[in-house]
Amino acid sequence: MIGYGKKIHRSESPTGVWSDRKRRKPQLGYPLLGGVGSTVSRVKLAKPQAWFHERSIMKIPFQERKTKLRGVLDIITGCYPSFLFGGRLGGILPVFHFHDVTREYLEPYLKYLSENGYKTVASKEMGEYIRNGVSVGDKTVVLSFDDAWASMHEVVFPLLNEYSFRAITYVAPSLIEDAVVGDRFVTWDHLKDMSNSGLVDVQSHTWSHAMIYDDDVVVDWVKPDYDRSLMAGPVIEMNDVVTRVTAEMLGRPLYRARSRMSDALRYIDDPSVHGECVAHVNANGGAEFFKGESWQEQLMNIVLSGKGRFETEAERLAEIKRELARSKEVLQLALGTKIRQVCMPWAVGGDLAEETAKAAGYETMVADELYGKRFLVKGGNPYRIMRLKHQYIYCLPGNDRKTVFSC
Ligand SMILES: [Zn+2]
Repeated sequence: MIGYGKKIHRSESPTGVWSDRKRRKPQLGYPLLGGVGSTVSRVKLAKPQAWFHERSIMKIPFQERKTKLRGVLDIITGCYPSFLFGGRLGGILPVFHFHDVTREYLEPYLKYLSENGYKTVASKEMGEYIRNGVSVGDKTVVLSFDDAWASMHEVVFPLLNEYSFRAITYVAPSLIEDAVVGDRFVTWDHLKDMSNSGLVDVQSHTWSHAMIYDDDVVVDWVKPDYDRSLMAGPVIEMNDVVTRVTAEMLGRPLYRARSRMSDALRYIDDPSVHGECVAHVNANGGAEFFKGESWQEQLMNIVLSGKGRFETEAERLAEIKRELARSKEVLQLALGTKIRQVCMPWAVGGDLAEETAKAAGYETMVADELYGKRFLVKGGNPYRIMRLKHQYIYCLPGNDRKTVFSC
């Protein structure tokens, strides 16, 4: 155990000073929900609310949205390497990404790579290749596993050993700070074990892997059907303690969310108001509350009584700096290795994140860029490394290879 941060917990506590922004434009977001009128008429129509949400999502920069149109544009603008379409590997270095895996799922990919004579490199070689043109040799790929799920130690590590492959795992230290054996993420001892073996290259996935609110309009609530994953739950507080929205916070308002590492300014909603929403639901039947007729208007009335605020540009910069510097520092201290690469959660990194990563001493950064190449080439941008879905491993030249259309 090392001394940084605390385990994610579920309490809420007030932070900051609340401006009057909500008061200045209290109803602008809601006319679409039923016309200018009472609070009731603004919140009671479910369908327009969904439509409004869609419209709200459209305001997020195109390059941060994983849409079908984006996929098509990527194909026609040549973002994908030619080996996906039956061509040669041709001196490029592809990077494949996985998350949580089982042995049955992962092993066939490793088998394909092994039987077809591929070798693997990790972050150091990636940096030397893209920055200095140091060759990695033919038939070389990078395997990466995001988030360091428990399966990284239970499944991936022994398989890497069996197949003599190396892989990178990207870790957000705040997520594993107090992890114990049996948790969903690996423990520090697991990470040390894997790192010491030389088979696993542990690198940074920022400090907290955070989603933040970037708008002050309520788009939904934590209802009994809330099913966002832990990391997709927007952060409520992100100082030493990272607190996120979870399914237990029934009644909590939800706003449009984007990655902390985007250039978005974070909206900090009024803690007394969301606390009151949750208390109101608890006092009125919990999950049963949402079967009533007027639950949305009751909650919206509470929300409209509060005041939130947007963070300042200085606060945004300070948080982005901390996300990058602290993750690097904590991992280096715990593992005694060099943390040279950061992988942006959801591959979203704004201009600010890129500049800050450079200043924090990262040599390379995994992040999307509109129309960027989804592979590494010598002389490419080291701060916009883009990866490929692991399913495309089967498109690599070899026996029984597939094409992008049959993967
Ligand atoms: Zn991740």
